Amino acid sequence: MNKGIFFILTLVFFLQGNVEAQTIKNNKIIVITTDGLRWQEVFKGVDNEVMKFKVFQKGDSVKTVNNFGGSTIEESRKKLLPFFWSTLAEKGQIHGNRNQGSLVDNSNPYWFSYPGYSEILTGQVDTAINSNEYQPNPNTNFFEYLNTLPFYKNKVIAFGAWDAFKRILNEKRAGFPVINGNQVDSLLLKDREIKFIADLINESYHPFGEEAMDVYIKYLSLFYLKKNKPNAMYVSFGDTDELAHAGNYPEYLKAAHRFDDYLKSIYDFVNSDPDYKGKTTILITTDHGRGDVIKTQWTSHGQKINDSHQIWYAMIGAGVEPLGEVKSIEQVFQKELIHKVSKISNLNFNSKR
Ligand SMILES: [Zn+2]
Repeated sequence: MNKGIFFILTLVFFLQGNVEAQTIKNNKIIVITTDGLRWQEVFKGVDNEVMKFKVFQKGDSVKTVNNFGGSTIEESRKKLLPFFWSTLAEKGQIHGNRNQGSLVDNSNPYWFSYPGYSEILTGQVDTAINSNEYQPNPNTNFFEYLNTLPFYKNKVIAFGAWDAFKRILNEKRAGFPVINGNQVDSLLLKDREIKFIADLINESYHPFGEEAMDVYIKYLSLFYLKKNKPNAMYVSFGDTDELAHAGNYPEYLKAAHRFDDYLKSIYDFVNSDPDYKGKTTILITTDHGRGDVIKTQWTSHGQKINDSHQIWYAMIGAGVEPLGEVKSIEQVFQKELIHKVSKISNLNFNSKR
């Protein structure tokens, strides 16, 4: 072969390869949230100012400091969230460290759950959504949009620790199952393992009333993922918010630690399964922040609680640049997050009613 032609052919193959590498198409999409986990703990670990209040220690201060404390914030946060501060920091990106200039905020003016989840999942703010009891969401969500596309059709599922997700995602209109952790839908009960978890849920104490404990959401979603191989999955956890409202700082931290371990389980599976490895984009975030300046307000959030619009997000997987912990000035709003996933996935999700 003529050297010139060989060179041109090599160049063409090289360029084609490059174009393909940048085009993430038909990737699996997983979105995971934990309710009201503060950026302060994500980036700084145990908040020693909160720990000074006896009322929040629940008689467990020595153990808590042993478990998750450190002589530096880096040491503490890594003990609290080991997956965040190893794999996610090395291979993904973590936004929202306000001390480094990375600002992530609610765009909605309410700073509580339904408005926050609606903002994440529909990629826009609807100020009419001003109550957790709000009717089924009139706005189209990203997963509903995915379920209209051939690759994702009937391969979409959501697991909610909270029954409100049936309204937030407007299950009836959206056309994909939204599993309420406290009452597993009969369509999943044919599976023996899922039936067993559903029995445990039915027969155990429900400390958070309407909300299922995270442990059940964890195993329901993991079993489902491994067996049914959905192309898009949303999973919502709630222990962090419940235990913060209860003013139980040690248990709030343990819930954050368990959430981190769940992320590791998902990531490990994704990286060991040929259907998901290298083809899965994961977004991780929270619906709202919590108080900070007035230290007793860490338990709470909402319009009257300063700083509770301050959130964080992380991404890892296919199409996600490994930026690590973002240490440059930026302002990102919650409503932009799902559009980032859409863009990475070469999709064209438009927020609309
Ligand atoms: Zn709350």
